[in-house]
Amino acid sequence: MTNFLKLSVSTIALCTAFSGSAFAQEKVLNLYSARHYQTDEALYAGFTQKTGIKINRIEGKEDELLERLRNEGANSPADILLTVDAARLANAHELGLFAPVKSKVLETRIPAHLRTDDWFSFSTRARVIVYAKDRVKAEDVQNYADLANPKLKGLVCTRSGSHPYNLSLMASIIGHSGEAKAEEWSKGVVANFARAPKGGDTDQIKAVAAGECGVTISNTYYVARLMRSDKAGDKKVMEKVGVVWPDQKGHGTHINVSGAGMLKHAPHKEAAVRFLEYLASDDAQRYFADGNNEWPAVPSVKVSNPALEKLGKFKADTLPVRSLAMYRAKAQMIFDRTGYR
Ligand code: FE
Repeated sequence: MTNFLKLSVSTIALCTAFSGSAFAQEKVLNLYSARHYQTDEALYAGFTQKTGIKINRIEGKEDELLERLRNEGANSPADILLTVDAARLANAHELGLFAPVKSKVLETRIPAHLRTDDWFSFSTRARVIVYAKDRVKAEDVQNYADLANPKLKGLVCTRSGSHPYNLSLMASIIGHSGEAKAEEWSKGVVANFARAPKGGDTDQIKAVAAGECGVTISNTYYVARLMRSDKAGDKKVMEKVGVVWPDQKGHGTHINVSGAGMLKHAPHKEAAVRFLEYLASDDAQRYFADGNNEWPAVPSVKVSNPALEKLGKFKADTLPVRSLAMYRAKAQMIFDRTGYR
């Protein structure tokens, strides 16, 4: 009952939000966004200033937005889906939610490995290894492969294997090394678990600092957030852990993305393409990346972020996001088979 009520209320709110614009000749863009950061206001204001197009924003959790788009089908008012993680964007693609976009601006600005025919990456984050400096040697955790080394028995903790961040990492391992090696790796990691997967990346870093486990993997923006935190507890956590860029002598550190695509049933297709192109502009790239301590997808755009600067330079894996998408289902199968829940 409560759920039904919530749904009705939100549906009414949505209709109210969009009905005014439906009649007012088309200077609007309806955005479904799984991002919500301090810099977003400036990001969206910049678009309206440049184009005169007003943005109606619906914010929600990533999977809720996907579910909502599926339910709305052809009646969806949404023009753009903005979300995080290649696995989720791939999922949206497989559900047939996106429309192909041809744009010279996007083709020139976004590197080829960071785009597909219907969705585009606008920022990148890396998946790094975080270890307890007093219990694990940095030289033992230089590669993702090391996490499966019996040397680390009882020391590894991570979030669930079903989470998109780990699915995308697994997809990259399949892409580089093939299914058999990927499965072996997963088995090895599971055999090294200090505990069954639970919590998010930040929880794992805190568990490493607290001695509950010795090594984990985390997206860089969680590390950066802890580095920039004023809280005494967070500072203590960061004193205890070291951060490694994995696979620097191999394919480079696994990269994941935030991205967006135009929806198949978008009522304002022209505005939608303009919005995607705007996201690739210098200013928008800065707001977009900095809002979540990420790197701009457009290589010529520089951000000054003290935490990212402190983490230093690294070699990033250039495996196309397309491949991450392609191996997503296989990644889930291997995690299931090897008990990486
Ligand atoms: Fe996240």
